[in-house]
Amino acid sequence: MSGAFRVRASSWASLFDCAHRWEGANILGMRMPSSPRAQLGTAIHAATAAFDEARMRGEELRALDVVPVLVDELTSPERDVDWSADELSRRDAEVIGRKLLTRYCQEIAPLYHYVAVELEVVPWRIDCGGGIVIEIRGTLDRSRARADGAGGVGICDIKSGVSAVTQGRAKTKGHAPQIGTYELLYERTTGQAVTLPADIIGLKTSGSPEVATGQIVGARDQLIGTDDSPGLMDYAADMFRSGLFPPNPTSHLCSAKYCARWKVCKFKDDQQ
Ligand code: SF4
Repeated sequence: MSGAFRVRASSWASLFDCAHRWEGANILGMRMPSSPRAQLGTAIHAATAAFDEARMRGEELRALDVVPVLVDELTSPERDVDWSADELSRRDAEVIGRKLLTRYCQEIAPLYHYVAVELEVVPWRIDCGGGIVIEIRGTLDRSRARADGAGGVGICDIKSGVSAVTQGRAKTKGHAPQIGTYELLYERTTGQAVTLPADIIGLKTSGSPEVATGQIVGARDQLIGTDDSPGLMDYAADMFRSGLFPPNPTSHLCSAKYCARWKVCKFKDDQQ
């Protein structure tokens, strides 16, 4: 162990939502069970990844062939899920998951030629100064890299949730820090430049299941600073160097359902 803070690539972007929550989960080891909707998202992502990986190997398969992956994720006793946390039953989660999985496999996956699914990245060490080093590692969870056949490569990131699709488009707001991080990690790992805009693939898990895409251009610009204007990586380095991870009670995840620090956090806004 080098003494560096080891950070999962998939968690990195949530540092910029509520750093206090991120510190609780990733440095202080605060844990909570998954909510039913979060577990539904995990199940859908696992099944779509199994589908896309098989297609990358040249296998012909249908959505039905990866339904067991979805069901396993929803029923495995090894998953720590609080099924009483909201109104979504396990049975309803499976029904929604099957519909979204089918639509993804039939309508979205054929649009893309993937060259990597949930790529394991080469660790990225960032010197924050003051002897503090961060090491971002792990896999690009829930993401794929796509090629356009003309030498271009771009990131596709699957987002599931109750508002993942609005008015026929995938919600892209707030996703740039994660996409930018994934683009940089992809380039560092493969040596290949990411030249295409990122596609967000939205899978809506409430009401009638919907799937749609949306684009993010220039996601990396938010992360990398210039002489005149610091980027998010500069702010992150400051947090690690100072040990101060600021709260954000306006985060849409500031709730007992999603934040393991909620009970002890004096900054939460629970006056509703
Ligand atoms: S309770 Fe709210 S402000 Fe406090 S750590 Fe959690 S998300 Fe952040």
